[in-house]
Amino acid sequence: MLHNSTERSGEIYIDSTRVGLFEIVAVILPLVKKDDEHRRQALAIVDQTGLIEHIHRDCLFYYGGNQEIEQDKGGDGEAAAEDANEATKRCYTAAARKAAYTALNEYQSCLEPKEMAEYLQGYIVPLLKDVARPKKWKHQPSAKGRVHGHCGLINPGCICYMISMLQQFFLVPQFRYQLLRAEDDTPENLAEYKGDVIDDNLLRQLRRLFGYLELSARRAYDPKPLCFSFKEFDGTPTKIGEQKDSQEFLNIFFDRLETQLKPTSQRHLLRDVFAGNQCTQLICASCGKVKSRMELFYTLSLQVKGSAGIYDSLGQLAKGQTIEDFNCDFCNQRTNVVRRQLLADTPNTLVVHLQRIVFSFDTL
Ligand SMILES: [Zn+2]
Repeated sequence: MLHNSTERSGEIYIDSTRVGLFEIVAVILPLVKKDDEHRRQALAIVDQTGLIEHIHRDCLFYYGGNQEIEQDKGGDGEAAAEDANEATKRCYTAAARKAAYTALNEYQSCLEPKEMAEYLQGYIVPLLKDVARPKKWKHQPSAKGRVHGHCGLINPGCICYMISMLQQFFLVPQFRYQLLRAEDDTPENLAEYKGDVIDDNLLRQLRRLFGYLELSARRAYDPKPLCFSFKEFDGTPTKIGEQKDSQEFLNIFFDRLETQLKPTSQRHLLRDVFAGNQCTQLICASCGKVKSRMELFYTLSLQVKGSAGIYDSLGQLAKGQTIEDFNCDFCNQRTNVVRRQLLADTPNTLVVHLQRIVFSFDTL
């Protein structure tokens, strides 16, 4: 009767074998409860198999929470509890949990008052002791877990520009898994920050963040350690109360990450995933000769103003603009040239920056 669940956190697969077993129990118990002899026999079988213990401790509830979970801190205690959850054979899907609760409910309805008292004493009283009391109003137990299979990122201030970029990087599987595989031999660089000990290393903090987004059972991860290791230009940790430009963040972030990836096995990762080659051409209106310059790019800035959509913006980039009174290197005349940008090699993953801000000398 005790079957190890094949369900996993964050997945939608339903363990139908387990659901079926619970449903059988839920059908049989009401049939036998009217006859006391049959009822006793059925309960004896249920007790022998350890089914109720299994439903309580393995499938539905987490006992021992108070000792290990530091609920409001979101510290490593919670991570340990998650590991414990993974180790046991929990019901994760709504269907499996519903079947387990239904079987439990039918079991309870078979109990005589004295048996019910024993049951409450054995399973419910310890659970009440173990579950930490909510420290504030508006407590939502369901708010503890992943939402639609995803673990989010907590915004500790005004760093939505950073969080949105990190989530997009995470959602590029080639980047995520290769980064997690990077062999990094540099020693830990422990530093104390607001009572926590943090490994002050951007690469490892990014890997840690990706690890949580991938595997954690919690609702969200606090990126504070990454903010600490991503320094401002003056060498201080990221000022989480300051809103910044996401494009600027991305450029600095890639630059620093590339430096940190250099000694690892994934030294070409950023280039392999995000880089392409852009060719800037100057075409002379007089002699028709073309001057070309190749350049590596990681993001493509596209104009939004006056554009009907992304293809239109790409077209404008290729069409180019006329620059007047330009000195041509080939015919050595002051003339008009067309400056255009072409994509010579496309990246495996294209990062597009929508340039909404228009620079104007009139309003400067
Ligand atoms: Zn010319």
